[in-house]
Amino acid sequence: MVRKCAREAFGIKKAQWRARVRWFNLAVLTITPAIWAYGACTTPVRLSTLYWSAAYYSITMLGYHRLWSHRSYKASKPLQYLLMLMGSSAVQGSAYWWARGHRSHHRYTDTPLDPYNAKRGLFYSHIGWMLVKPDTKPGYADISDLQKDDVVQWQHRWYFIISAVMGYVVPTVVAGLGWNDWWGGLYYAGMMRMTLAHHSTFCINSIAHYLGETSYDDRKTARDHLLSALLTMGEGYHNFHHQFPMDYRNATKWYQYDPTKWFIAACAVFGLASNLRVFPDSEIKKSELTMELKALKKVQDNIRWPAKAEELPVVSWETFQEQAKKRALVLISGFIHDVTDFVDQHPGGRYLLLKKVGKDATAAFCGGAYDHGNAAYNLLAMMRVGVLHGGVEHIKTITPGERLRIIEVRE
Ligand SMILES: [Zn+2]
Ligand SMILES: [Zn+2]
Repeated sequence: MVRKCAREAFGIKKAQWRARVRWFNLAVLTITPAIWAYGACTTPVRLSTLYWSAAYYSITMLGYHRLWSHRSYKASKPLQYLLMLMGSSAVQGSAYWWARGHRSHHRYTDTPLDPYNAKRGLFYSHIGWMLVKPDTKPGYADISDLQKDDVVQWQHRWYFIISAVMGYVVPTVVAGLGWNDWWGGLYYAGMMRMTLAHHSTFCINSIAHYLGETSYDDRKTARDHLLSALLTMGEGYHNFHHQFPMDYRNATKWYQYDPTKWFIAACAVFGLASNLRVFPDSEIKKSELTMELKALKKVQDNIRWPAKAEELPVVSWETFQEQAKKRALVLISGFIHDVTDFVDQHPGGRYLLLKKVGKDATAAFCGGAYDHGNAAYNLLAMMRVGVLHGGVEHIKTITPGERLRIIEVRE
């Protein structure tokens, strides 16, 4: 039953199942945590090794993303090699392969041409896409710049050797030669760090498309959330990133957690990075405002608003007088209001209101007796029952509550 469900989730028939599994990826993604688990049971963790693992994890997580997927800044050659080696230590494929897939993800987000299509579920977008070959190849993305990039091509050619050295040998040898903890180096700085780095990176494709706010656009699944940012060295402001992918920042606000941005900015200070690209602030604010107005419009649509002048009956002075004998009708700014049910709630008392029944109380309402505030104008408008025929030259139809009303323009 479980196997049948798995086959259905990946859209694969039984006969194709074996041929479609990416056995190498499956091995790396299962054997690595298994060795860590074995090490955790047999080798006590030493503090120096733990510090080394944390430091190596941090530099592993700097990754390829903002430089090679998006060219959001220019890196000097030493920085390119450093990022390339550090990215290799994550053992998640070459920058050439990874950036190509990521560009398809941006171009075809949430469609079958997106290699980690979030619409196929959390498991698929997190790890499933790496375990089985896709039924549809990732959509076309321009990688001509990567084909001409000698550092990218160098790493792609020697990827398996580089990733084996950076992923397994270096963390082990540093702990071994440094403080004689060879096995601890392998289990913790190697396997534990790599497992955590894998799943942290995978979260960019899974929970960053599932959990959080759509602060800039809600048509795609990308989301902004602090938790994703904490797990991914700042890549969790993913809704922003999908809208402004060439921006070297994921987080634009000072209080948001984006250590990758801080690293790039620090590199720029030391002359290792340049041409840090940022989108104009007003464009970012425009997208933010659109979503804020959309949320406010929802609130607005759930509020009762007053009737418009054209929706009300036009009433003659005589009819107004006649009706005012039966119920408490007051004329203000050309509108006839039925205040019968409000008389006892009037903050100024019954008397002031009742003495204006059948009369024009515009002057009294607008400052003569009391200079009413926004709430009073809004409330009064809800009591409109008619418009006086030829009674006034000017009718104020827009209440304070309606002055900034959001109107959706449709094509
Ligand atoms: Zn994404
Ligand atoms: Zn991206």
